[in-house]
Amino acid sequence: MSAPHIAGRIYEPAAYAANSLEGCYWVQTAPDTASYPHFDGEGTVEFAVIGAGFTGLSAALRLAEAGADVAVLDAHPPGWGASGRNGGFCCIGGAKASSAQIGARYGAAEAAKFHAAERAAIELVSERITTLGLSVDRHSQGELQLAHSPKMFAQMRAEAAKLSATYGTQTDLIAPGDLARMGLNAQGTHGGLRLDLGFALNPRKYALGLAQAVQARGGRIHSDSAVLSIAREGEYHVLTTAHGRLRARHLLMATNGYSSDTVPRWMRSRYLPLQSSVLVTRPLSDDEIAAQGWSSDLMAYDSRNLLHYFRLMPDRRMLFGMRGAVRWTAASHHAHRAATRAHFDAMFPAWRAVETPHFWSGLVCLARDLVPFVGALGQGENAYAAFAYHGNGVAMGSWSGDQMARLAMGQPTDLPNFFQRSPQRFELGPLRRLSLPLALLQYRLKDALS
Ligand SMILES: Cc1cc2nc3c(=O)[nH]c(=O)nc-3n(C[C@H](O)[C@H](O)[C@H](O)COP(=O)(O)OP(=O)(O)OC[C@H]3O[C@@H](n4cnc5c(N)ncnc54)[C@H](O)[C@@H]3O)c2cc1C
Repeated sequence: MSAPHIAGRIYEPAAYAANSLEGCYWVQTAPDTASYPHFDGEGTVEFAVIGAGFTGLSAALRLAEAGADVAVLDAHPPGWGASGRNGGFCCIGGAKASSAQIGARYGAAEAAKFHAAERAAIELVSERITTLGLSVDRHSQGELQLAHSPKMFAQMRAEAAKLSATYGTQTDLIAPGDLARMGLNAQGTHGGLRLDLGFALNPRKYALGLAQAVQARGGRIHSDSAVLSIAREGEYHVLTTAHGRLRARHLLMATNGYSSDTVPRWMRSRYLPLQSSVLVTRPLSDDEIAAQGWSSDLMAYDSRNLLHYFRLMPDRRMLFGMRGAVRWTAASHHAHRAATRAHFDAMFPAWRAVETPHFWSGLVCLARDLVPFVGALGQGENAYAAFAYHGNGVAMGSWSGDQMARLAMGQPTDLPNFFQRSPQRFELGPLRRLSLPLALLQYRLKDALS
């Protein structure tokens, strides 16, 4: 079934088409055998969740565990969005604003609460994987940031102790001369810093595992059920799909980079989707791994603003991702694939002849003030949203969905107050994507000079 058109989305239609998932390596690693019937007819539910990614599924799981009546509606099957097609770094992050900016804007106590949330988010995913018995190809103890210049390494050295204190965990500074010995040889890197937090996983296996857990606890999941409009009738939100109308006492929006400016209208211009893209090699032989000198299973990224992220997976394929495409057309997809491959070749020259049969893109989500949102859509509306993890939503999306469910149930949360602000609108409204080329250029210049 092809998805009906959801109005008010700011990318080309191809970004939202079912086949935008083509080329995604994860699909072949985890076929989805469950069934998620589309929503049909008239119905009533206590809690309706729109979006079946980490945010929506995590919210639905918390609600279902509490015995609540919950239905999740998605235009596509669970995990079709960013959640089933990301790099699988379950790590700290969620804001693009720096720790110092968050402290300056909202105060030290709020910054501390945010850092506690980043940690709690990783712990939540880890705990769910364990308690639900999910098999998600987990690897990597902690994360590694590689300096893209000697200057950045000097900065890492200066900030290592502070980072340890911020997250209450160990950091290991790796001198440039030690990288190759540790199986971390990438061209153009100048030392690194390992933070003993986080791990890597197969995101599709995790997303499908969450979906099964929701169903097993009585939650309903409807795919092919794009919500085309939301209206208010008395105490109910009425969600209209191509085949039905669902009345819900509580509404939870979990649409992140796939949001629209009209469903609901409140979302208008409060989010900005941005593309991230990933390529995956065929399995590498031992000789190929030795030739490049990258044999570590640590998930890694570099210190650029427009960062590269990469990891050698348990099946010996290398995953490599980066951001930067601003349009979603066949031509831009082709060009960005070539650009990503060129960046990969520059960092891993011994693998220039290695095929990369998998390449795909997806939408992450930014907020105008560069921090996540989890909160209410106005007073007394019984409507909530969680979005804007700035490309780091494996852990933060899972946690934010969980917190949103608690809000919706009237339970206490661990949310920093600033998560619950009213998110500013982007200045250019429906044309806000036009701001991206200049912003990306500024980041590129910054990276070149740092
Ligand atoms: C290529 C790529 C690599 C990434 N790598 C990482 C990484 O390594 N680590 C990390 O932490 N984060 C990463 N991210 C970001 C992370 O994937 C996201 O932050 C996270 O998955 C967001 O989850 P979500 O549930 O909020 O949204 P999504 O998973 O995007 O789900 C939103 C869902 O909403 C549905 N939807 C939207 N509107 C409607 C509607 N009107 N009706 C019905 N359904 C609707 C969509 O169909 C979609 O399924 C990456 C993202 C991409 C694209």
